[in-house]
Amino acid sequence: PVQAGIVGLPNVGKSTLFNAITKAGAEAANYPFCTIEPNVGVVEVPDPRLDKLTEMVKPNRVVPAVVRFVDIAGLVRGASKGEGLGNKFLSHIREVDAVIHVVRCFEDPDVTHVDGKVSPMRDIDTIELELILSDMEAVERRMDRVQKMLKSGDKKAQQELAVLQRLCAAFEDEKPARSIDWTPEEAEIVRNQFLLTSKPVLYVANVSEEDLGKADNALVQEVRARADREGAGVVVICAKIEAEIAELTDPEERTVFLQDLGLEESGLDRLIRETYTLLGLITYFTAGVQEVRAWTITRGTKAPQAAGVIHTDFERGFIRAEVTAYDDLVTCGSQTAAREKGVQRLEGKEYVMKDGDVVHFRFNV
Ligand code: GDP
Repeated sequence: PVQAGIVGLPNVGKSTLFNAITKAGAEAANYPFCTIEPNVGVVEVPDPRLDKLTEMVKPNRVVPAVVRFVDIAGLVRGASKGEGLGNKFLSHIREVDAVIHVVRCFEDPDVTHVDGKVSPMRDIDTIELELILSDMEAVERRMDRVQKMLKSGDKKAQQELAVLQRLCAAFEDEKPARSIDWTPEEAEIVRNQFLLTSKPVLYVANVSEEDLGKADNALVQEVRARADREGAGVVVICAKIEAEIAELTDPEERTVFLQDLGLEESGLDRLIRETYTLLGLITYFTAGVQEVRAWTITRGTKAPQAAGVIHTDFERGFIRAEVTAYDDLVTCGSQTAAREKGVQRLEGKEYVMKDGDVVHFRFNV
């Protein structure tokens, strides 16, 4: 499943948010494919379409898509130089698809700030600098190797070196790898460096209870402006309230609680949705009587590769996909009706999957 790593300076509200995630989280037993460690929370992706399909098909089992959140606490100033357990935490970031950067946008005299004053801009700079320094070290090490390859006449090495040099220059300006525009070819080289600062970022602006549901406060506005410049996302939440919402197991109670706050959905649900958007992810469904299930793919994925998410055999032996758009299926009322009305399509290897496709794959074993 998709993995998102939660980072941020101490005392910004990471643990509070992470606790809300684990409380709201899915039963570990339902997700044998997700190893659960103490710093990992697995949450189901809320999707009303899945509920509707369940109602329609009445399957034995329903499996929503999930996002795995990893709490990467302990990232402090000096982490790249091995302060605290710095390097260990940095290596956790390498494994995630997206970075969720929690920044403090609430004033509270009872909660001290590690740098004395609440300033999300400086907080972002502090964390980003550690990531940049770590990347810089990795790139410099790689440059040494590539220079040796160059001497032995490796053509590819020349191209890689040029990319590494541009990365280095950006890092010296304290700019992350994601701030550079690459050609597809260069982007491939960058991907292979597994850099921390090339991961997509979503800022979580943690505001006070009073500020929730109101117009952005000045600190949130700063975060938004920065995110816009960087192509990053922003989700405004109040971690404390999220912790309270997560305590409410009764859906009705939860709805009333949210309504009282003037909210349509929890911050956590928004966070999950924004993570999907940030990563360019879409969902397709399989809907059999045994199981109705949501699957996560990247926008632009073709049918065989989408099948491969279920099982590699499905991709290898792919013949065709029987596809019905979710809306068409709902209009028809059943898969049989969809077939009779001719809205179920047979698609081949080149078919690009769409969000909400309800699919049955045909394959050779
Ligand atoms: P971490 O060090 O980033 O994990 O931060 P914590 O989650 O432990 O939070 C640090 C302190 O800030 C705790 O005392 C929290 O109760 C408090 N805190 C976290 N989120 C909020 C919030 O939204 N509003 C207020 N007022 N306090 C918060």
